[in-house]
Amino acid sequence: MTVANETLMDRDYKAAMQPFFGDAEIGSWVNGAMMAGRGEAFDLIDPATGKAFLELKDAGAEVVDAAMQAAEKGQRVWWALPAAERGRILWRIGQQVRDHLEQLAVLETVSAGKPIRDTRVEVLKVAEMFEYYAGWADKLHGDVIPVPTSHLNYTRPEPYGVITQITPWNAPIFTAGWQLAPALCAGNAAVLKPSEMTPLTSLALGGLSKKAGLPDGVITILTGLGMTTGVAATTHDVTRKVVFVGSPKTGAAIAAQAAANIVPCVLELGGKSANIVFEDADLRRAVLGAQAAIFSGAGQSCVAGSRLLVQRSVLDRFVDMLVDGANQIPVGDPLDPATQIGPINNLAQYQTIEGLIKAGCQEGAEVLAGGARPEGGICADGYFLRPTVLGNVRNDMGIAREEIFGPVVSVIPFDDEADAIAIANDSKFGLAGAVWTNRVDRAHRVAANVRAGTFWINSYKTINVMSPFGGFGHSGYGRSSGKEGLMEYMQPKSVWTETAENPPAAFGYAPE
Ligand code: NAD
Repeated sequence: MTVANETLMDRDYKAAMQPFFGDAEIGSWVNGAMMAGRGEAFDLIDPATGKAFLELKDAGAEVVDAAMQAAEKGQRVWWALPAAERGRILWRIGQQVRDHLEQLAVLETVSAGKPIRDTRVEVLKVAEMFEYYAGWADKLHGDVIPVPTSHLNYTRPEPYGVITQITPWNAPIFTAGWQLAPALCAGNAAVLKPSEMTPLTSLALGGLSKKAGLPDGVITILTGLGMTTGVAATTHDVTRKVVFVGSPKTGAAIAAQAAANIVPCVLELGGKSANIVFEDADLRRAVLGAQAAIFSGAGQSCVAGSRLLVQRSVLDRFVDMLVDGANQIPVGDPLDPATQIGPINNLAQYQTIEGLIKAGCQEGAEVLAGGARPEGGICADGYFLRPTVLGNVRNDMGIAREEIFGPVVSVIPFDDEADAIAIANDSKFGLAGAVWTNRVDRAHRVAANVRAGTFWINSYKTINVMSPFGGFGHSGYGRSSGKEGLMEYMQPKSVWTETAENPPAAFGYAPE
């Protein structure tokens, strides 16, 4: 097992927060300024040390209400701007993100525990998201429909108004940019509640958007807990649509809350994705792909390739390569650029992963690599776990059915193509999947037959803001990214104009 560095690097939380918050008390970003929370206090914990570094206060219903009123006003100002001007402001938000790339990456790394090599890439992607949707802003227009009457009928794509967005802790700023940029592009105001465990970079994005010239109220960031602030936001009568990224259990609750409020939802939920390796694949590339699929981000990724399906004829050889690779991945301080796997984000998740590994072993799975905390002082206190490979797994075992959301891969053998597809599809989820093969016919057959919203051929985990993303089955509904993601934030209005000089009266009585 490789430890990236001997000791934890200096963690100066104050210096990491200073560029974005100065000495101000951190609350929620409401109407272009910080607003103090009114609810209970809670701590932010550094996952690498397990120690609290900041106390925050839950926003609560009163702050949510103030935020919604400001968002409603801000949206009217925003929608009244020329579309090209909205695009220019979005572009400038992207520029602000680029200008603060390193500072945002460090803030994300110390507060969310993600390795700095990952957060640098994720922050850059946030800039790209604003730039991509900046280009769309003045290209959104409707159709003229050749209706059979004498009317001119056309459509106008219009914003919903105020969108409530709820996000998880695994990729905080990435997920915030992913949903804020298209919501604003379509002319909405967005009220985003990040996970209570990782709100800082989303709050920083709020401040940067003001510097870019975004009118007050168009972006709100609520700092607070799900059951208080999250519920208040999703059920508020100003909310016109809810976009949720998180676990299936919370997604079901939020969909019910939204339904009671008669607003639509987009749900981006979890997965149990199948990564399928055929005997004819380039096994060296496939083993690297399998590691990236499950171990990057310490497996805290919705698209993680947590079920590794390997053709029986190459099973032993492939598993040996995988175990060897897993044992050499540098685990350690997320601030160290050499680290590839940092800590699990929080203690509850750490314990969930440990519990799932234990339950898997009780069902007959065998730990072939990892399965425990790395040795060495550096990883003694934080929520570190070695990359874990489980053998002897059958697809009907709990470990193959439940999302683990950690660096744990279950290796499941298969015999032939039909068998691989059947195992891949034997899951309530349908978020992603991949196939490794050198046969072009097989690659496309498998891609067509596996039920998943995203599928890779001889690759894994590449996503881009230009391409739609979303789930089948219990992985959710609706789409994010690309044109499809933008359409989720707009609704068409149909406008009818009579063009006949003397239209025939179809109904009623017109006095002379
Ligand atoms: P979670 O469902 O526990 O929490 C997500 C958010 O919901 C948090 O901000 C939380 O405060 C809030 N929340 C909780 N209850 C609420 C309620 N009743 N009303 C309003 N808000 C409420 O998820 P998590 O543990 O933070 O994240 C991990 C999950 O997210 C995994 O299942 C993962 O697969 C999923 N995820 C999915 C995607 C995707 O795009 N499909 C991306 C990232 C993460």
